[in-house]
Amino acid sequence: MASRRKILLKIILLGDPNVGKTSLMNRYLSQKFSNQYKATIGVDFLTKEVMIDDRVITLQVWDTAGQERYQSLGTAFYRGADCCLMVFDVTDANSLKNLETWRDIFLVQANPPDADSFPFVIVGNKIDLENRVISTRNAEKWCQEHNNIPYFETSAKEGVNVQLAFETIAQKAIAQINESDVPDFASLSLEPEPKRSSRKRKRCSC
Ligand code: GDP
Ligand code: MG
Repeated sequence: MASRRKILLKIILLGDPNVGKTSLMNRYLSQKFSNQYKATIGVDFLTKEVMIDDRVITLQVWDTAGQERYQSLGTAFYRGADCCLMVFDVTDANSLKNLETWRDIFLVQANPPDADSFPFVIVGNKIDLENRVISTRNAEKWCQEHNNIPYFETSAKEGVNVQLAFETIAQKAIAQINESDVPDFASLSLEPEPKRSSRKRKRCSC
């Protein structure tokens, strides 16, 4: 029988204003899309339950309330994030470049134990538009050069790849949690450290 262990994952959405973060969240959580631009107001997060690897996972998706304009999202937004979905707009080159800044801000604010293995996913959104300026190839190259972050292309408008992007990041976060659940027995060893001290002695030339 499938295991019923429940896991809650906090996913945060980051990226420049207007790239489609709120649209992606709405598309994923309620299958809706609106052409109207309005800064998200009032809502901190929405949740969705999904089954991944036989487990019920509650995804808690945090969207900004438009404060990304001032890059001041407050610590509650970042605190305890299990994964971070960084979004850019394929018709806006700056929005990709700025993901570097967003990642740096995230790492300072959320301060995850291991920055290098923290689960990020990058999403190039609005692929339904004709006037794209960032090609798939260039975006992939950029992501490879930035610590090999997984990359997806989406259209929140047409509902392309949105579910895949969210569920991949959830999977990555679960893998990370599973890994950190395993106690590091090596570091729990109570034995004295003869090797290290003898090595020390050998190195000493006096
Ligand atoms: P946010 O500021 O990052 O939350 O961006 P929004 O979700 O509010 O979207 C900004 C604008 O881009 C809105 O007018 C959306 O309708 C539009 N938009 C978002 N995603 C897409 C998409 O995939 N394709 C197209 N054509 N427009 C989109
Ligand atoms: Mg928004």
